[in-house]
Amino acid sequence: DTRIAAISSAIRVIPDFPKPGILFHDITTLLLDTKAFKDTIDLFVERYRDKNISVVAGIEARGFIFGPPIALAIGAKFVPMRKPKKLPGEVISEEYSLEYGKDVMEMHVGAVEAGERALIVDDLIATGGTLCAAIRLLGKRVGVHVVECACVVELPELKGRDRLGDKPLFVLVN
Ligand code: IMP
Repeated sequence: DTRIAAISSAIRVIPDFPKPGILFHDITTLLLDTKAFKDTIDLFVERYRDKNISVVAGIEARGFIFGPPIALAIGAKFVPMRKPKKLPGEVISEEYSLEYGKDVMEMHVGAVEAGERALIVDDLIATGGTLCAAIRLLGKRVGVHVVECACVVELPELKGRDRLGDKPLFVLVN
């Protein structure tokens, strides 16, 4: 698809952020490019519009940028998957490991029900730990069918895809 090259070049790569040795993929420059941003959303919508998806789950923070326009276009609801102590209602949580230490992801109880079909959206997959936690929250804890995970960028050398088990991953750029 000719749109992919322009999306790829609209993503800025910044060395040594947030720490020395890390090459950070910055999607904020993609948001400045009106055509590339729209093409990004359109490519996901074209893939998911006829898949009977009732919920798009977006991962804080940049899954909140790409998830809602996809949800609106395919007629699905949007559910935020948040860092701890951000959601005001009753939550369920999943702990997951980071490179150094642990983090927790939370979701509102009652936002989504067993048997619903979900798409999980984030900007980027690195080690896959974040998407794994989202899959556990929706799938194991609530009984939602996770149809696919969708990211704008994959860092394939970190083999995050292998951690997702049988859940398919769709990415635009790697
Ligand atoms: P993982 O859990 O190792 O796959 O890391 C993915 C999570 O960290 C996602 O929520 C990303 O937004 C964030 N992340 C990791 N590296 C980058 C990066 O280079 N750019 C933007 N986000 C990143």
